This record gives sequence, structure tokens and C-alpha cells, in this order.
Amino acid sequence: MSSCANIKPQQSNTDLNYLGTQKTQWRDTINKSYTRADKKDTTILFGGMTILQDKLVMAALRSLGGNYVALPNPDFESFRKGKAFGNRGQCNPTYFTVGNLVKYLQNLQQQTGMSSEEIVQKYLYVTAGGCGPCRFGMYITEYRKALKDAGFEGFRIMSFQQNEGIFQAEDEEESINFSPTFFITLIKAIIIGDIINLLTYKMRPYEVEKGTTDEAVEKCYKILSDAFMQKRNLVLAMWRCRKVLEKVKLDRLQPKAKVMVMGEFWAAMTEGDGNYNLHRFLESEGAECIPQPIMNRLMLSIWEAEYAAGKTEDLEDKEMKSIDFSNVKTKAMMKLAKVAIKTYFTLYAKAAGLHDYEIPNIEELSKLSKVYYPLDAAGGEGHMEVAHLLESVKHNLSHLVISVKPFGCMPSSAVSDGIQSLVTSRYPSANFLSIETSGEGAANFYSRVQMALFKAKQAAKEEFEALDMPENIPDKVHNYLYQPKGEMAGSAAQLIHSLKTQSL
Ligand code: SF4
Repeated sequence: MSSCANIKPQQSNTDLNYLGTQKTQWRDTINKSYTRADKKDTTILFGGMTILQDKLVMAALRSLGGNYVALPNPDFESFRKGKAFGNRGQCNPTYFTVGNLVKYLQNLQQQTGMSSEEIVQKYLYVTAGGCGPCRFGMYITEYRKALKDAGFEGFRIMSFQQNEGIFQAEDEEESINFSPTFFITLIKAIIIGDIINLLTYKMRPYEVEKGTTDEAVEKCYKILSDAFMQKRNLVLAMWRCRKVLEKVKLDRLQPKAKVMVMGEFWAAMTEGDGNYNLHRFLESEGAECIPQPIMNRLMLSIWEAEYAAGKTEDLEDKEMKSIDFSNVKTKAMMKLAKVAIKTYFTLYAKAAGLHDYEIPNIEELSKLSKVYYPLDAAGGEGHMEVAHLLESVKHNLSHLVISVKPFGCMPSSAVSDGIQSLVTSRYPSANFLSIETSGEGAANFYSRVQMALFKAKQAAKEEFEALDMPENIPDKVHNYLYQPKGEMAGSAAQLIHSLKTQSL
């Protein structure tokens, strides 16, 4: 009792001076008092995509002028720095990405001896921004807070709104011109990276000699970055990549579990500590992954912008007020963006030899999922996680669907997972694992993945063994260019099945 009596409430708890005061809107103030280096002495940092895409985007943007540098892949040290300098209660990608920038700048300072002021003058960071309702809307503020606390006050964080893309207004920062050329070049690099990544995930689990796929991809990167830098024909560069990839020897008749990796965009896409290296772990356990390309997220952003414009139009109709022509413009621009993405994808995919992948039709996926997930509930991946699971079960696309969600993610953990339990109860055949990444607890993460994977491997084996093996198996089945589409989930089973249907 005596010790309790000694406990005093915190000073702020007893301070009631705020009562009766005028409330003011909180604003994120940007310290602009620092002098900036000339454009030619400014280094523009960015990052946060897959390893290959970060490198390709660096080459692509450098070709436009400007010293772009991709940050290294975020690791656990980045996460720890994010936690140390960030606000409490952020979601995992915030900690990894914010901490990664702090880590890079601190290392830069140590290695070069530059002062914080000099770094603030000569470096800036560019990233995609966005709006809520998830924490994505607060990323920029988080960057500023963490950088200030780490001693880099005034460091410039530039953002472009991911749902406005090439159509947004010019920014006042002189070092980057967010022009249509900038975004078209960026999109080309992202699409090319997606295509090479999709092919990598198809090939690597079946390589005869370990490491040969990664070696081939490294050669492809060299070809493509040279093509960007020298402004050469990218279709031709993708054709040259095809020739490199064709040399990788594959044994594709191994019945491996096919695992669709989806979930929150960053957690599902990253290739490092941010998701405990999930893709490589699955491959080491005998699985083939279906990754989520970044262009799928672009297509979702476009769909969201169109959907929002459509809703405003409905309201206008009801209220009989004047038509807002900015909506018409948004819809036209979004249509144009979709056509551009599809055209570039088709051209590059054909050249590189990716034949069986289709850009998702978000409208169709929305129809599929809206029975379960209200389309107005935006934020994070919105209805897409539910749509991916439904798509996989209905079309037999995989033996296991893993939904990766970062610790503290509202849309993915709190909303999507609640709804997924209804989906799995209606489709009991679904092998679905929802798993959280917290930056800690890798042992628990791997163990849960292994348990779900066991069932998936059994399913892949049974599916393959149920087929009659043809007497002659042509060599083409081991060539990555042979990609028959069909109803089998496993790649090996699909190859055998295609031979049978061809001989009928
Ligand atoms: S979707 Fe989730 S993890 Fe991603 S930014 Fe939003 S709250 Fe964070």
C-alpha cells in the first residue's frame, strides 16, 4: 500500500489546460530551410520492389538522366532501425522500408564521413504515396519522423500518388520531373522485371544444376539494363533473354506442390527478411511458387480509380448537378493506362517466351469476390485477397494458397482474413494458410508453412500419379517455352496431361 501511495500520475494526465482551447488541424510541417545541391549533384534514392525490379528501374531511370540509386533489399537490421526511429504500432512494411532508408543513410555517413547536412542537401528519396484508409497514407510522415529522429531533419521525401500515375501535377522539386516519359519508362522496367520474375519462378524449382537459373537471370539483367541505358529496342533485348533462359537445363516432370503466394502487396512481393524469404524457402522445401507481379497492383490501382470515378458519377446523376468532367478525364486516362500496360506486357512477354500468364481481369475478380467482400471497403489489397483464393479454388490453380500479411496490417489481417474463413467454409477443398510476418518469430512462420505444404505436396503427388504416363515423352516438355494451359494445378501433371490431349 505504501508503495502504491508513492505512485504519482504522469504530469500530462493532470494537465487540463487543453480544456476550452481552440482545436487546430495537425499538419505535417516540412523543413525547407536547407539549401539544396544542384540537380547534377543530387542522388535520388528509391527501392522496395523485387531485387531485379529495383536494379532494372535504376538502369531505366538513369537513362533519363539523374543519379538514381536503388537501396539494398530491406533486412532485419532495417526492421530494427524502423522500430527504433518510427512511431509505435506501425505495420511491418513501414518498419522495414523506413528503417531501410535510415540504415542506408547511416551507413553512407559512416563510410564517406559526410555530415548529416551534406547528406540532406545532396540526397533525396522517391516513393509511391497514397491515401488511407490503411497506414499507407502515413508513410511519408513516418519517413520524415524517423529521419528527423535519426539526425537527418529536412531530408527530402518525394512521392507520386500511385493511383494517379502519369497524370498527376508537376512537383515543385526540381531534381525529378514526374513526366509521362518518367512513368512510361518506370512502368516498362516494372513490367519487364515482372516477366523475368515470373519465368524465374517457373524454372528455378526444376533446374538440373543448382544456381543455373539465377546465373541466367543475372545475364538477362545485364542485357536489359544495357538496353535501357543505351535506349535500345527492349523487345529485342527480351528476345536475347529468351535465348539465355533456353540454355538452362530443366527436369520439369517432378511433381511439385504449386503454391500461390499472395496477401498484402509488399509482404507477398518482397524477396528477403520482410517475409522470411518465403519464396526461396518454399522452393527449398520442394514447391513451385506463383508470385504476385507488381503490375497486378498497378491494375488494381487503376480499377480503384475507375471505380471511385464511377461512384461519383452515380451521385451526380442522382443529385442532378453539373457533370464533373474531371471524372470523364480520369476514366479515359485509366483506360489508356490499362491499354498501355497490356500492350507492353504482351510485347515483352511474347519476346521472352512467357505464354501462359494473363494479366488479371480485376473487373472479373471483383465480380467473383463482391459476394463476400464489399467493394467499397478499400485499403490495402481490398477485395483482391478473397478474389485470389476463390480464383485458385474455382480454377484449380494451385495446391496451396498462402496469404502473407504483415503484423499490424488492418486490411489484410483484420478484414480479409475474417472473410477468408467464410470462403474456406464454403470451399472445404481449399488448402489455405494465412500467415503473419512480424519481423520476429521465423521458426513459427516456417513451421506453419511446412505443415500446410505437406498437404499440398501430397496433393501434387496424387494428381501426378493418377495420370497414365505416355510411352514417349518428347524433349519439349523440359523446355520452359512449352507452357500448355489446362485443368491440372501441378506443372508436371499439366505437361503430361497436355501430351495425352494432344495425342487424342
Ligand atoms: S495494407 Fe497493411 S501492411 Fe500494407 S501499408 Fe496498409 S496497413 Fe500497412
